[in-house]
Amino acid sequence: HITSDELLNESEFSLEKTLRPQSLSDYLGQEKIKKELAIYIEAARKREEALDHVLLYGPPGLGKTTMAMVVANEMKADIRTTSGPAIEKPGDLVALLNDLEPGGILFIDEIHRMPRIAEEMLYSAMEDFFVDIIIGQGDTAHPVHFPLPPFTLIGATTRAGTLSAPLRDRFGILAHMEYYQIDELKDIVIRSAHVLQSQINLEGAYEVARRSRGTPRIANRLLKRVRDYAEVKGQGVVTETIAKEALDLLRVDHQGLDIVDQKFLSTLIKLYDGGPVGLNTLSANIGEEIDTIEDMVEPFLLQEGFIQRTSRGRMATQKAYEHLELTFLMND
Ligand code: ADP
Repeated sequence: HITSDELLNESEFSLEKTLRPQSLSDYLGQEKIKKELAIYIEAARKREEALDHVLLYGPPGLGKTTMAMVVANEMKADIRTTSGPAIEKPGDLVALLNDLEPGGILFIDEIHRMPRIAEEMLYSAMEDFFVDIIIGQGDTAHPVHFPLPPFTLIGATTRAGTLSAPLRDRFGILAHMEYYQIDELKDIVIRSAHVLQSQINLEGAYEVARRSRGTPRIANRLLKRVRDYAEVKGQGVVTETIAKEALDLLRVDHQGLDIVDQKFLSTLIKLYDGGPVGLNTLSANIGEEIDTIEDMVEPFLLQEGFIQRTSRGRMATQKAYEHLELTFLMND
């Protein structure tokens, strides 16, 4: 399972770091979450306590990792990051927790993929800052009570629903990340263009924003490709026309649907007459994992009203039919 961040080469990686906002005021969008967090951060700092545990949930690329970094920065706290699948045994978790300074932050990405046994250990760690571990084997095995420094756990997940209730209940702050508005994405695109030292005009920024599926990670990725196009085919400035041409070339359509979205809708409509169709069938037909469809493809199509989820499966809406027809006409 490779995330798009891991596919970046080293120079792109350092660029990626500079693209990440550092403070709450730099972080664009997610106004409701920022407002709440700002209050809790200020209160925790006044009391000189660790911030309560935070669960960030929502589709990939919306800025959960970035938000964790921002919180650490605002708390002036040390942060360690790991991910659910990287924690193989309870000892891995104890080592990470024990390494934190008092008030430090542990960020666990994809926390829903953490092994059960490690998850259970988190309960007492989160609630009372201790873990009980078994040392030794067989006859010499004995429990050891292990106190931990006060810390903040920030968990990120694409699905709060798959988290067990005991774990979910131990987070004092639950933050649901939403897809971004076009206006917010436009600001992110302008900010990123500035970081990348590329020129873009307002209409160009809007065009990239409109086609970014409400997702900053996609906005940044498209911006880089559009910038390449502007340098080769234009005068280096990203204008609306340049952005349109470059994005058409990438087969991102005027609503921001990418090839996978388009395949999903056209399979649903052309092969199954608009549904209802089960997820397994769709997954087999379009050659994408069920997880990918559930985490990345469907949430956006649902929010934009292209599909409906019914008890018998997924159904295309009128909007999906109209959209597909339009895309056909444009491609012909
Ligand atoms: P997630 O952890 O939710 O998958 P990330 O935090 O890794 O998402 O964000 C993906 C990319 O989008 C990063 O490059 C980050 O710089 C950018 N990004 C995310 N949120 C914002 C934001 N609010 N403002 C500016 N850039 C953002």
